[in-house]
Amino acid sequence: MIGAGPSGSVAAALLRQRGWQVCVLERQHFPRFSIGESLLPYCMEILEEAGLLQAVNEAGFQVKNGAAFTWGDRNTTIDFRDKFTAGPGTTFQVQRARFDQILIQEAEKMGAEVHFGHTVNNLDFTDEHATLSVSTDQNQSYTLQARFVLDASGYGRVLPRLLNLERPSAFPLREAWFTHIQDNISDPDFDREKIVIATHPRDRAIWMWLIPFSQGRCSIGVVGEPSHLAMNGRDPLVFLQDITREIPLLKRLLENAIWDTPVNPLRGYSANVTSLHGSRYALLGNAAEFLDPVFSSGVTIAMHSAKLATALVDKTLHGQTPDWEKDFVQALRVGIETFKTYVSGWYDCRFQDVIYSTQMNQDIRRMIASVLAGYAWDISNPFVEKSERRLNALAEICGEAQLDT
Ligand code: FAD
Repeated sequence: MIGAGPSGSVAAALLRQRGWQVCVLERQHFPRFSIGESLLPYCMEILEEAGLLQAVNEAGFQVKNGAAFTWGDRNTTIDFRDKFTAGPGTTFQVQRARFDQILIQEAEKMGAEVHFGHTVNNLDFTDEHATLSVSTDQNQSYTLQARFVLDASGYGRVLPRLLNLERPSAFPLREAWFTHIQDNISDPDFDREKIVIATHPRDRAIWMWLIPFSQGRCSIGVVGEPSHLAMNGRDPLVFLQDITREIPLLKRLLENAIWDTPVNPLRGYSANVTSLHGSRYALLGNAAEFLDPVFSSGVTIAMHSAKLATALVDKTLHGQTPDWEKDFVQALRVGIETFKTYVSGWYDCRFQDVIYSTQMNQDIRRMIASVLAGYAWDISNPFVEKSERRLNALAEICGEAQLDT
């Protein structure tokens, strides 16, 4: 296993459950910062299946039960507990440094061998096995043989780079600027159990997140194409504070916030690949494809890819010939394509028109809530099965949303 993020830990735990020997090589030392802090309820199901849920439940993370959208004076709340698909309706908002450490420690307790500070630099494949070339941060090098390699290296994208599998994303290049703050939010009506997704009043292609954590802290970030963000040489902290004040709700909520952490960028994060698997490898999570942060789908897709792949690794290692194309690629694509519809619809404003409309009836709201809660593989939901057609029809009914100003 390359990488000990959520996809690597979930895959390691699931393979240990099936009795396989698992070695996880992670180039960093944990705890380490990672972006991707707002989870979706569906991933609670996968954590439970992997035997990781109890440790997460006991960690004291901020509960999350929905999303609060805001655009000027328009506010819409989606409650994940009132949804079409059966399954958990709540999840957590997590500092990933701690969350990722908990997951990998649990996988280790289940018997996975984990090496931190070990970077995978190269791979060779034969018909029988893969040989990984590894270097350590103690300046040692070694090779390791594995019968199967799962690449869970996230933005490291080890196998896509080495095997020339990289393909440009269908989305334009966007960037995010983000930090953690002590929020000092005193508004008694503020609901810490919802992520805030804020559309910029001047430019609907720019949005911000506010993810409340436990203990009075929040993650805050802004996303947009660089030309739209127009930083104009401003210091990143000043830029992020300025743009936060341009969002009426965030300006009011965060008037006493303490900005005590450096602001960091991430750009060009959307990625894709030409192939998700080979005879001795498969790509998980962000190592394969990453869409966009707007609906917090990254960790859930990463965990779902781990769940699908490990079932097939088990069969492959038992000498069977599972149908990777059907049961991994196509199966994973169902959810990815669903999210892709709503992400595209967010940026071209069809989905924003729906979200900010007052026309959405309760049944449709429940179906949308299911998708946004991560149940994007539930093909009994018409907003999954025929996502593009359904979104177009709904956007037409809702009409173009306008601000009152
Ligand atoms: P990662 O979590 O990236 O883990 C990969 C690991 O592999 C790392 O620990 C890395 O050190 C290790 N590694 C890399 N290269 C090597 C190597 N050569 N050898 C050994 N180890 C290696 N997702 C959400 O679910 N919710 C959100 O709110 C959210 N917000 C986001 C905001 C932004 C701005 C962005 C860009 C993304 C966001 N995401 C979010 C997506 C989320 O960050 C990822 O989808 C998720 O972390 C993917 O998990 P992973 O296990 O695939 O990879």
